[in-house]
Amino acid sequence: MTSKNDILFARAQTTTPGGVNSPVRAFRSVGGTPRFITRADGPWFWDADDKRYIDYIGSWGPAIVGHAHPEVIRAVQEAAARGLSFGAPTEGEIVMAEEICRILPSVEQVRLVSSGTEAAMSALRLARGATGRDKIIKFEGCYHGHADSLLVKAGSGLLTFGNPTSAGVPEDFAKHTLVLDYNDPQQLEDVFARMGSQIACVIVEPVAGNMNLVRATPEFLQAMRRLCSQHGAVLIFDEVMCGFRVGLTGAQGMYDIRPDLTVLGKVIGGGLPVAAFGGRKDMMNFLAPMGPVYQAGTLSGNPVAVAAGMSTLKLIQQPGFYESLATQTAKLARGLSDAAAAAGVSFCADAVGGMFGLYFGAEVPGSFKEIMACDKEKFNRFFHAMLDLGVYLAPSAFEAGFVSAAHDDEVIDATIGAARKAFAQIA
Ligand code: PMP
Repeated sequence: MTSKNDILFARAQTTTPGGVNSPVRAFRSVGGTPRFITRADGPWFWDADDKRYIDYIGSWGPAIVGHAHPEVIRAVQEAAARGLSFGAPTEGEIVMAEEICRILPSVEQVRLVSSGTEAAMSALRLARGATGRDKIIKFEGCYHGHADSLLVKAGSGLLTFGNPTSAGVPEDFAKHTLVLDYNDPQQLEDVFARMGSQIACVIVEPVAGNMNLVRATPEFLQAMRRLCSQHGAVLIFDEVMCGFRVGLTGAQGMYDIRPDLTVLGKVIGGGLPVAAFGGRKDMMNFLAPMGPVYQAGTLSGNPVAVAAGMSTLKLIQQPGFYESLATQTAKLARGLSDAAAAAGVSFCADAVGGMFGLYFGAEVPGSFKEIMACDKEKFNRFFHAMLDLGVYLAPSAFEAGFVSAAHDDEVIDATIGAARKAFAQIA
């Protein structure tokens, strides 16, 4: 019997490049047919054949309270009934900005946008505009969306498809992007010593999730903070993924480091398009209409999206939310590691808050090089074995996974049970 997913994928490829609207969805690196999703509820979603999966991507991060949470859906419905978009300010945007500034002490002012790409691109322009400098530092394997300057040795889909620097980025742009090794403070030190006065900013995923999960060492982030302050460069934490995910106050809370600017997305939209960038007020004042750095958006602060985001921000502040999320995620990581050990597969897992990494190698990687040394083919086989058993992992060895508050003990145990079979199959 032909799967409806196959039929839809064939049809999609006629009018959509590669059949998908974002590359990693296409299953290119793991092979096979992408699943077309029809509905989702809590920790599950269903494909076009009505097969149910335990979902570990959660829309790549936003679905932290579980899919279709009744309170989020209600907030969206109520907002939608009042009108979809006005192109004029609303009180909801103030409430959301106040909430973000209250939760993240480093953020004194914030501007709402519609995607992480837009937020990172805008933060970069702001850093350049505020410092009058052109050069930026990023790290190999970190992904900050697809703005030209940031598509150099990037992670996520670019890494998955083996061309980490995109075609179409002019050399004149790329030459201003200095790409350094993640978790190498000495290299950072050397570059600042050589050209510190030309560097507008350092942008980093303080917990990296776009080359699989890699934790920053405290020394790396501390060196970054110190060097930026010494040389008048702007420190930008891209917390699109780890913000409100590794804990309520994100990586900046976890490492106790105050960036100058923070980039947010995913969770703050609760599944609708909201992202943001914010930070020091003196710097945010460079933005139009106050200052000379231009940035704008027809749908920025969209009332329906803001309603989804605000109801999500309320839910994640319930007592014990992150303790429970971290417990479930750690339980998953431990259970998967034990299942692999029982099957004799070289594998390990790591978890930070509600994020996890799966590595087909003996030790948890601490660098891009170590990630690249993991067994990608084994991952691909494991991915498909799990998919057949009704567990949907990220379809790439270079992505992190996400647990939601709806992943209860029963769901985690079912996942570990499936993993025992999957590891045995690929051993
Ligand atoms: N920064 C980081 C750290 C991300 O993980 C992502 C998306 N995965 C982005 C930026 C880009 O966000 P968006 O896909 O919403 O444009």
